[in-house]
Amino acid sequence: MSGLLVVVAGPSGVGKGTVLGGVMDVLDEAEKSVSATTREPRPDEREGVHYHFVEPDEFARLVAADAFLEHAQFAGHWYGTLRTAVAERLARGRVVILEIEVQGAAQVAERVPEALRIFLAPPDMDELRRRLAARGTEDDAQVEARLDRARVELAAADSFDHVVVNDQPDRAVAEVVELIERARRDRISRGASARLPEGSSGR
Ligand code: 5GP
Repeated sequence: MSGLLVVVAGPSGVGKGTVLGGVMDVLDEAEKSVSATTREPRPDEREGVHYHFVEPDEFARLVAADAFLEHAQFAGHWYGTLRTAVAERLARGRVVILEIEVQGAAQVAERVPEALRIFLAPPDMDELRRRLAARGTEDDAQVEARLDRARVELAAADSFDHVVVNDQPDRAVAEVVELIERARRDRISRGASARLPEGSSGR
């Protein structure tokens, strides 16, 4: 079966990790791409599993080498999707999921138009604040910065193919799985499958 590139964006704290964990439990062929970031690892995060944690110098070197399909700054740190993390898996027919913020999602839309783009939205801002605070991984100032950024991200929701409201994780998982399965059927019938543009020349 042909590969599918899936972009999932949505504000910090909306539950992207939980929902995508559920999606991967249901869809054996789905996997998340591991991004590079300059932010520090959280206590439960491991190199190569949650992110490739790199120094700012190394990140800049990767940008210069055109190693990223997309990259963006978020809350003072850099994040990027490595082309190598995606291309080979797509070629093997996998469903490759990018869990990224909205600027990166816009870059992917331009470079891989056949990608399926889903925006995961919170039921409302109060619920987002509650989830971010309950997670306890950011201090108050960082929570406020992420909420400010969430307002900007929500304004971009309409540019996505689909908006899924994460009111209940199980329901949101089922909806995302259905969207992925429908997109795969649709692209197969159109003979379109995701291919990454070549580095520099293909941008
Ligand atoms: P966090 O610091 O909470 O892990 O991630 C902060 C934000 O950066 C989240 O919205 C997350 O989805 C996004 N993000 C993670 N990896 C990437 C990436 O490779 N590219 C972009 N553009 N955003 C990313």
